[in-house]
Amino acid sequence: MSKSRSGSQSPSSATALKPEDVKQEEITKPEEQDAQLPPETPSEPVKPESSPPPKRESSETSTPAPNNRHRRTGPQLIGDLPLAEEEARTTFIEIGDNHYQYSTLGRSREALEGMTCDCQYEPGVGDPSDACGHDSDCINRLTQVECLPEDCRCRSYCQNQRFQRKEYARMEIVLTEKKGYGLRAAADIPKDTFIYEYVGDVVSHPSFKKRMREYAEEGIRHFYFMMLQKDEYIDATKQGGIGRFANHSCSPNCYVAKWTVGKLVRMGIFAKRSIQKDEELTFNYNVDRYGHDAQPCYCGEPNCVGYLGGKTQTDIAAMDDLYLDALGITDEVEKLGLKGSKKRKSKKLDEDYLPEVRPLVDKDVPKVVQAMRQTQSRKVLLKLLTRIKITDNEAAMRQIMRLRGFSVMNNILTDYATDIDISIAALEVMAKWPLIQRNKVEDSKILVPVQACQGSENETMKGLATKLLEYWDSLEVAYRIPKRLKAVCTSSRAAVSS
Ligand SMILES: [Zn+2]
Ligand SMILES: [Zn+2]
Ligand SMILES: [Zn+2]
Repeated sequence: MSKSRSGSQSPSSATALKPEDVKQEEITKPEEQDAQLPPETPSEPVKPESSPPPKRESSETSTPAPNNRHRRTGPQLIGDLPLAEEEARTTFIEIGDNHYQYSTLGRSREALEGMTCDCQYEPGVGDPSDACGHDSDCINRLTQVECLPEDCRCRSYCQNQRFQRKEYARMEIVLTEKKGYGLRAAADIPKDTFIYEYVGDVVSHPSFKKRMREYAEEGIRHFYFMMLQKDEYIDATKQGGIGRFANHSCSPNCYVAKWTVGKLVRMGIFAKRSIQKDEELTFNYNVDRYGHDAQPCYCGEPNCVGYLGGKTQTDIAAMDDLYLDALGITDEVEKLGLKGSKKRKSKKLDEDYLPEVRPLVDKDVPKVVQAMRQTQSRKVLLKLLTRIKITDNEAAMRQIMRLRGFSVMNNILTDYATDIDISIAALEVMAKWPLIQRNKVEDSKILVPVQACQGSENETMKGLATKLLEYWDSLEVAYRIPKRLKAVCTSSRAAVSS
């Protein structure tokens, strides 16, 4: 998911112009934006690599000094900033759910291997978190899929329907000092809490390009685009939710992630760590957006890289912790001091920094699967596939399959159908997965893209696909208790035990 808010961190500056905003505007000329549009088929967010961080005449704007008032050991608190709910809401049309340009947009492309998890919960007996909660082993939750009310055996106790129930965190819109409007936590928020859904118009790639151009012509300075999935974008520029007011930070307390809800993919803002009341809610635009110019950053964090924009998912300094963890390089990056600094030129994955990738053990698996589902970066994806490929640990491979590994591979082979390296890596990975039955192969519909690989002109790819199909052909489909019967069995068991 990439969000392109080409304007800046000051979405409100159209109505609340301040000297700082004017400077930012000089840096962000609408004509320049066109040059930075993503290509037709962005396999990786395109960034203005060619545009270095803006040189500014006065050094005091280039290194925004953290306000002394905010000097602290804990997080920055902005409880004293004025509320701006009403003014902020006049700048856009608020909608509760996404509007789809066509009914085919926003559809999940994964053929999920069933949407029902194995969680069970008896009120008063088990831990309430067993009901698909944060610490549960819920397969849906771990694979970023919401339970559906009609399917989940935990019924109304299920804690994994947060988008559907609009379980938003309490927050306020405030006017910040240098960044226009922002969001402030109105209560303490635990780590991984769902904070808000990022909603807007879901549009196709050609419409995204057209809108960027039109907005520039209309003189709109702040765009709010976020990539939903390949070739699809959420545009919250003219209509959307208040999630659009979350500003950038180099050390953010939130992250965005896409979740599957029924047949749709939806984008949410989540707490990256536990957040205190009165903290500003921020996420990392450098990870989640592209197509905008570099401009000064006012996040005030010690690791501030000095500007935002012009970074990619492969810039180590700006890379999200999820990807560092999934690649298994968090400690190494820390040791080498690659994580965020104004002074040093950021190192790029594989170009200036070639990490040593180690095999997986099963506890690494959920993050790796999540990172594969979330990343827009081809390079990060190839590295993750390599990591799985060199893994011989059977427990880890089984855990990948349990966490819908075949569905993920189906998605990858479809999105990267013309990419030989990615396709070959995905086929090699699956060739190692130990299967006894054919069920997961059938359920995930992985045969379709693998058969397409078999038709490839590339001999290696063709050979790998043929072998894989032969292997799967040799397996039998195990009988499964139909879901309805299973529900009856479960409820009768519950009746007996109660
Ligand atoms: Zn569950
Ligand atoms: Zn559930
Ligand atoms: Zn910063």
